[in-house]
Amino acid sequence: MSVADEVKARLDIVDVIAGYASLQKAGRNFKALCPFHNERTPSFVVFPETQTWRCFGACGEGGDVFSFVMKAEGWDFVETLRELAQRAGVELQPYSPEQAERQAENERLFGLLHEAAHFFFEVLHSDEAHVAQDYVNRRGLDRQTVETFVLGYAPNDWQQALHHLLMLGYTQDEIVEAGVAARNDAGRVYDRFRHRLMIPIRDSRGRTIGFGARALDPEERAKYLNSPQGPLFDKSRILFGLDTARRAIRESETAVIVEGYMDVMQAHQAGFLNVVAQMGTALTETQLRQLDRYASRLVLALDPDVAGINATMRGLNVARQTLDDDQSVTFDARGMMRYTGMLDMDIRVATLPDGQDPDDLIREDPDAWGRLIERAIPVANYVIQQGTAHLSPDASYHEREAAARLLLPILTATESDLQRNGNIQTLARQVRIDERTLIQWTQRRQAAQTRALPSMRDQRRLAGRTAQVAPPAVGGPPGQSDLREAFCLRLLLEQPKRLFAANRKFRELRADDIVLDQVLAPLCAQDFSRPDFQAIFRAIEESLYQDDLDPLDYLHDHLQPELVSVIDDLQITVLEAFRQELPGVLATELESILRDQARVNTLRQPDTELFIQDALALRQSRLERESHELYFLQQDASDLTDQRYHVTVRANALARKVINKALQQMKSFARNS
Ligand SMILES: [Zn+2]
Repeated sequence: MSVADEVKARLDIVDVIAGYASLQKAGRNFKALCPFHNERTPSFVVFPETQTWRCFGACGEGGDVFSFVMKAEGWDFVETLRELAQRAGVELQPYSPEQAERQAENERLFGLLHEAAHFFFEVLHSDEAHVAQDYVNRRGLDRQTVETFVLGYAPNDWQQALHHLLMLGYTQDEIVEAGVAARNDAGRVYDRFRHRLMIPIRDSRGRTIGFGARALDPEERAKYLNSPQGPLFDKSRILFGLDTARRAIRESETAVIVEGYMDVMQAHQAGFLNVVAQMGTALTETQLRQLDRYASRLVLALDPDVAGINATMRGLNVARQTLDDDQSVTFDARGMMRYTGMLDMDIRVATLPDGQDPDDLIREDPDAWGRLIERAIPVANYVIQQGTAHLSPDASYHEREAAARLLLPILTATESDLQRNGNIQTLARQVRIDERTLIQWTQRRQAAQTRALPSMRDQRRLAGRTAQVAPPAVGGPPGQSDLREAFCLRLLLEQPKRLFAANRKFRELRADDIVLDQVLAPLCAQDFSRPDFQAIFRAIEESLYQDDLDPLDYLHDHLQPELVSVIDDLQITVLEAFRQELPGVLATELESILRDQARVNTLRQPDTELFIQDALALRQSRLERESHELYFLQQDASDLTDQRYHVTVRANALARKVINKALQQMKSFARNS
């Protein structure tokens, strides 16, 4: 039994959800107004028998107690596991000694940073802080804001913070590691932040992980000084203000991204609570995915240069090659377009008036800020606007064609066909060139690219052609589902890019049938029933949509210890399955074979085709689970049985039929070839 299972066994989902929604008995189940979307009649149902929940309304989502708490709190799996385990009184995975040590060190650092923040906060209220106090007043930050964000003052001194923390029992090394102090070449340790306004940076759970420090001396060269990268402080993962903004983001389903700490604090003070700031010059994939957990719309209220949009637009002529490189996923205009489709996220751009930042704007006229966010335009439209701004009304066909050809690769970078077509349509209107002509250019360009870049696409194609061995244990009895999920993850962990192949299969099966859109959507975490598997799957997805590292290296670097131990267990589960499959082989002999990972791969010949079948089977099980829920629902609560459920039931049944047929075809093809 995994820790997650143990936690689930000890907690009743009804008790947990009752803390978030007021549940009413409906037959054997409970219903409530959905805590995740606004509604008048309850379409949110909790099923005590299966310990699951589902929203039959706008969200159309469901899952177990983990997925509920993850969604409600905006935590990731590991955070949720820690919290629920504590609640259930379950001891977490025995860490390896090194992991336990690292964990304990981190806890010390969290404590240290918390103390440091409160030290600076105290000093801000002392006499020596009058310059900082003046600054806070000048920026119009009120007392409440100072307290909410625990603003502080780092005295103009080399030792005060250091001494304070040493006195509390922290070591010099710890203080340096937490980034509060620095060490010079001579080994002398001194306060890193001096005569600065201190802005604690907190993670999504509200724990201080570092500081942003604003210079108070106008002569100071570095206006802002941040904590250095460290074990807790990773700029690429942090969104400033997320801990206080989370709830508002979830409620409005919109996250607004600004550039600076001041912008966030000013916005929150004015009541715009769904505002967060990125921590550097570019948004990262990780940040975006974090927001994707609770927002369906993202508004970039950034200096366009920071968003990378203008840079991309300007660079278009010189940087064609970079843009054409299929593997570069950056957060420029093209990157954003891809994310829009991939995450099914509505990404918009709010254009700030020249030379103004949100901080100024909100202080001058909060309503104007509200309107600005309201009027943000989809990133595709923004790109078209920018890329055609230089065209005069009587621009020649040649000029308009040139502009269109530059924009097309960006506008078609999305994975959503619907969006792609929409973008081409808008561009066609703007440059007054027939839509079909634009589509032709796109297709020709893509064909040329495929010829020129044999790498990834061909590899995928070749992988698809490799000889097949029928997979074991696909479509087994219930209880086998863990095993199938384990197989699936194993195949993905070997070669994360297999996911693309499975998703192409889903697209093929959808065949543009709108009824099948949801039920045959790309493989997602929800297809795995176990929350720990879901978390691993999400990590695999993340690994695919970053371009700094090879996906496998990325996973190696980024998986949390709790998940690594799940993967180790996975290995054992899969090996166990082999043992059952090959009863003829002597147990000891088998063990020695299995110890050699390379041999395992040869034995099983895992490949992309196999993974596609597993993925389809996974979706099949999920649809079965969901159809059970629908069945309960219809039996128990007739008042909930309306048109929506009939539609869902029909789509569900149709999808299962389509998958069955596809699986049969694939299996008979594998046998015959
Ligand atoms: Zn809902």
